[in-house]
Amino acid sequence: MTAKIISGSQIREDILEDISQKVQEIQKAYGEIPGLVTILVGENPASQSYVSLKIKTANRLGFHEIQENQPDGIQEDELLALIEKYNNDEKIHGILVQLPLPKQINEANIINAIHPDKDVDGFHPVNAGRLLIGGTAVKFPPCTPAAIQEIIIRAGVEIEGAEVVVVGRSNIVGKPIANMLLQKGNGANATVTVIHTRTKNMERHCKRADILIVAAGVPNLVKPAWIKPGACVIDVGVNRVGEKISEKTGNKIAILKGDVDFEKAKEVAGAITPVPGGVGPMTIAMLMRNTLRSLQYKLGLME
Ligand code: NAP
Repeated sequence: MTAKIISGSQIREDILEDISQKVQEIQKAYGEIPGLVTILVGENPASQSYVSLKIKTANRLGFHEIQENQPDGIQEDELLALIEKYNNDEKIHGILVQLPLPKQINEANIINAIHPDKDVDGFHPVNAGRLLIGGTAVKFPPCTPAAIQEIIIRAGVEIEGAEVVVVGRSNIVGKPIANMLLQKGNGANATVTVIHTRTKNMERHCKRADILIVAAGVPNLVKPAWIKPGACVIDVGVNRVGEKISEKTGNKIAILKGDVDFEKAKEVAGAITPVPGGVGPMTIAMLMRNTLRSLQYKLGLME
């Protein structure tokens, strides 16, 4: 059997089309557009590349977009002051601080400083708490977990009653996606197991999964023999394993690999996401959706 390859890039196009439509409707009716500020500290190439994709997408959707590129040596109080400025800016509905931050800055202090109503990454403790409660309490589902859930739903894979195994328990991927899929409601109602470096016999758990979500950051961690035939495999891992010259631009680009041995896994799985082109592109779409949601909440268009 060869798995259905789930194209995150294709699903993203449908979602961006929908967002673009809503932006135009809101602008016509209320004279407002979603506003997003992206704050990038330093010159980490991966962070630069993620932020430039976010900016490009925001511009394409007609958002009001501000870029704040700050030097690597910025102090915490200066960064906090910048966040406060945008917390008070009426035209900004989403504040994104690209992580990781340099050592002199405490990331938790920065995340906590973003107003929960503008926390479009969904990392603030208030939004993490809302996610745990579930249902209508959730304002901004964190982008990567939201991307994973949306991909599974749009691929037509049944989540209700499914055995879901999540590899990884980080605050930005593993824990929130596990929590989202076990909630009562549509696109959820799964039975979820979360595994990590202290789990005994990972293979035994993975083999049980109808839906296997892998977010460990270890290339080829999941072996084809660990996959239940016909399972849906969502590979979140993005591992830079080398460099190559882009055929399109002639520039050096990173060679990316996921956490799953894709070529062999696709012979066992029923459906699988590729790396690149799976979860990554969808994550940016979810950030745009959250920024739109923030404006919709402000205008009273969402409860
Ligand atoms: P993280 O904070 O480093 O967490 C990794 C998790 O995986 C930890 O819980 C760790 O367990 C577990 N783990 C690591 N090695 C393992 C092993 N050998 N066996 C079992 N569990 C293992 O990483 P993250 O931020 O969640 O990101 C995970 C991956 O997803 C990375 O490759 C990252 O680049 C990628 N990512 C992609 C997107 C996207 O948009 N596509 C977004 C975010 C992250 P312990 O807790 O026991 O240490």
